[in-house]
Amino acid sequence: MRIILLGPAGSGKGTQADLIMETFGFPKISTGDLLRQAVQQGTELGKKVSEVMKVGNLVEDEIVLKLVEERIQLPDCRQGYVLDGFPRNLNQALLLEKMVKESQEIVFEIEATEEEILKRLAGRRVCLQCQAVYNINNDNNKTDNSYRCNNCGSKLVIREDDKPEVIRERYKIYIRNIKPLIDYYAGKGVLFQIDGQKPVEEVFRAIKSIIEKKLSNYSVSSGRR
Ligand SMILES: [Zn+2]
Repeated sequence: MRIILLGPAGSGKGTQADLIMETFGFPKISTGDLLRQAVQQGTELGKKVSEVMKVGNLVEDEIVLKLVEERIQLPDCRQGYVLDGFPRNLNQALLLEKMVKESQEIVFEIEATEEEILKRLAGRRVCLQCQAVYNINNDNNKTDNSYRCNNCGSKLVIREDDKPEVIRERYKIYIRNIKPLIDYYAGKGVLFQIDGQKPVEEVFRAIKSIIEKKLSNYSVSSGRR
């Protein structure tokens, strides 16, 4: 089973992907992680990625697709996997379609407004030393008033990526690219729209029940054959 999570940065789709992984055992495949890994490993592809990212451009669809293809061929993906942050546009979706063989697919669009995203991301702080991420909006956040890291005591900073103007611009680009993708998956009858502004547990409950339903349909139909 292929599960695709769509949603703007800050919609909480990474968290939902983690919960799906914990509950169903499907590995989470984040294209952000794949790109970072490729850069770290310094492969031919990684060097290309690093050049593109340095000037702030998006990595070409073909490169991202290649990384995803290598990843989903690993044995842990046989039962299913969760794609987090991919596909990002219609072209990537069509390329993915050509590449994969499994027919079972669920697409979740996790919706959140620009204002909600701004509110969430503007409170994000990262530790320069150990990369721990905090959110000052969060009641459970572990930072003290001086915003220092709980793990190592280093200063917490706002990432360049989390500045309001950057958040707004990224959201605009997301909406522009996602529209045709949403129409495409809706047309295939695999799209489920989820209200991402609800609490994390509630969002996951909605997602979980849809996956469970699909899984039970699948085992019934394959059992009959
Ligand atoms: Zn730290």
